[in-house]
Amino acid sequence: MTRWPTRPDPPRESTTPLTAPELTEAECRRCGTYIAGLDGRYACGVCGWVNDHAEGHRRLPRADEDPDRPARGRRRPRRPQGPPPGSPPESPPGA
Ligand SMILES: [Zn+2]
Repeated sequence: MTRWPTRPDPPRESTTPLTAPELTEAECRRCGTYIAGLDGRYACGVCGWVNDHAEGHRRLPRADEDPDRPARGRRRPRRPQGPPPGSPPESPPGA
């Protein structure tokens, strides 16, 4: 029988660049349901009430701090190639 050495799991904070949000609880200010939120930001699943993001205990991560943000240049505006149908063709300047 082989006994593998047990190693403790590293704390999650060390692997994630952003601090993990803290679980907080409060009552919905509209319907009074006991709801859980993150860092003081709540969204009630019963009545749909949400509090302002500024009421959070911590600032929100910026877009460039989001690890799931799509790479730069991947977003492409959907524009048809060439002039739209029905418009007169472009005339050269000075003509
Ligand atoms: Zn509610």
